[in-house]
Amino acid sequence: YCAKSEMTGVALYDGEKDPHSPQRLSLINELGRAIRDDQLCLHFQPKIELHGQRCYGLEALLRWQHPTLGMISPADFIPIAEATNLIHPLTHWVLKQSIATCCEWHSAGFPLSVAVNLSARNLMDDTLPRQVELLLEEFGLPHWALELEITESSIMTDPRRAMTNLERLHALGICLSIDDFGTGYSSLAYLKRLPVQTLKIDFSFVRQMLDDEQDEIIVKSTIHLAHNLGLNVVAEGVESEALLRRLQALDCDLAQGYHIGRPMPQAALETWLTDSRWVERPCAARHS
Ligand code: C2E
Ligand code: MG
Ligand code: MG
Ligand code: MG
Repeated sequence: YCAKSEMTGVALYDGEKDPHSPQRLSLINELGRAIRDDQLCLHFQPKIELHGQRCYGLEALLRWQHPTLGMISPADFIPIAEATNLIHPLTHWVLKQSIATCCEWHSAGFPLSVAVNLSARNLMDDTLPRQVELLLEEFGLPHWALELEITESSIMTDPRRAMTNLERLHALGICLSIDDFGTGYSSLAYLKRLPVQTLKIDFSFVRQMLDDEQDEIIVKSTIHLAHNLGLNVVAEGVESEALLRRLQALDCDLAQGYHIGRPMPQAALETWLTDSRWVERPCAARHS
């Protein structure tokens, strides 16, 4: 559990990586309680269509409001949940909350989709497709309005099993997308067979593509690859208008990033939906 610093050559103990560290054990206990005690909440980040220039849907991003440590990032506690069985109740909570909130948007006249992130362990869970189906039925959300984001690496843990579960989710008529595309270990052979509709290009490629020619080539090629496979492309991490325009010129389909909208709690999102240049006034369903 020691990481050797490249700069100093000194090995530093990393409590986060040690499954037995007191720090980590206490977070495991507290995370279980957080789920029961309502310390978790979702923020929602808009995804916009670059051609229609309108909001397409929102991605649900988990936040933990810890009573003493303050806001804890999912990057810090999702790995702990994944290393324990807590990931299962956690994901169920996120799915239920996201579906319920998406129903509220629909009732308010915004027929948007909601995207939920899944972890590798979720893809190994044979009960997940049925859980998703039951939640959609319970809330009466049209199936097209739910999207699930998975990473390449999470599929590669057990490709056969992941594939079976993905096929079952796909059969429900929900959308599947590959998150952080380009950063994980997977092969194009799998990509070809996966029942996904969308690729999300990781923001490590997008962020500097105006200054870095290599990054621009990667983004451009990924857009071509996706389109040739009949997939939609989302660019993550769009932090400027110039980047947005460039992606539009490269024929990228959708974009997400701080320039368009930060992840927001439900209350702030209501204001964003009312004021943003990306949202049409409430209207009848567009997915007829
Ligand atoms: P992700 O799904 O790739 O989400 C994108 C991350 O990039 C989010 O970080 C978002 O806040 C951030 N981001 C969005 N636009 C920009 C931008 O323009 N610039 C920069 N610098 N960052 C941007 P966040 O919310 O901290 O989430 C981190 C990761 O945690 C997510 O990456 C996802 O893998 C995971 N995660 C979040 N919520 C959940 C969840 O409910 N379940 C699971 N399994 N994982 C989750
Ligand atoms: Mg995501
Ligand atoms: Mg991502
Ligand atoms: Mg990411």
